[in-house]
Amino acid sequence: MKRCLSDIIGVIIAFFISQSAFAWGTTGHRVVAEIAQRHLSKHAKKEIAKIFGKEPLDYWANWPDFIKSDTTDKWKAAYGWHFVDLPGHVSKEVFIQDLKAIDHKSLYSQIPAMEQILKDKNASLEDKKIALRFLIHLIGDLHQPLHVGRDEDAGGNKIKLTWFNKPTNLHSIWDDELVDFQKWSYTEYANNIDVAGKDEIKQIQSGTLEDWFFQSHELADEIYDRTPEDSKLSYKYNYIFYNKLNQQLLDGGLRLAKVLNDVFK
Ligand SMILES: [Zn+2]
Repeated sequence: MKRCLSDIIGVIIAFFISQSAFAWGTTGHRVVAEIAQRHLSKHAKKEIAKIFGKEPLDYWANWPDFIKSDTTDKWKAAYGWHFVDLPGHVSKEVFIQDLKAIDHKSLYSQIPAMEQILKDKNASLEDKKIALRFLIHLIGDLHQPLHVGRDEDAGGNKIKLTWFNKPTNLHSIWDDELVDFQKWSYTEYANNIDVAGKDEIKQIQSGTLEDWFFQSHELADEIYDRTPEDSKLSYKYNYIFYNKLNQQLLDGGLRLAKVLNDVFK
């Protein structure tokens, strides 16, 4: 009996650890992919079909998280591709300097790296499949503000707090809890937020990759300021961040479409 209980506790702990390491939960990534799918150019759709066949973008949106469970270490090198950790409350200028100074493979280097593989006429179909799955996922991660958070708390993973009395951490609140709280399927979610007009879409899709990183980082600063350790979060937190959460998901989807439309010009 004792053995059994410790096994169960072990499984529960492993579950929370693996959860906290994930990005936008499965729903968040699928919302981003589904919105992007709706804004692809004809040509991009055609080129993507050569890689994915009939499988839509959302089918692969979470695969780069799923492979973290691969026990062969084949994908171990990709663990660090999902985020950057940088100092908070700095000017845009300093932030971009810090971003460009990252000296290992990260979310910042791997987005353009995946674009390069997709543009490369000599890349194999298998390499393009993997690059496309990562690109879909990483543009999503870029818009989860705590994937552009701070090193000292591991993007909010070390900031313990409660969500409706359940012990969790700040990173998980933004990966899963806020998204799941809406109780929309990912297609309902896409329907509900993909309502921007032409000018707004154009505005969202403008800017550089560095601008997009800075926007997420600025929102992360605000989140850190408003969510100290031991916070007891519930309805009010959803009320405060509802619009900003949905804006991040919409921005992610529209910008993923823009990136793919540019890659497959
Ligand atoms: Zn991720």
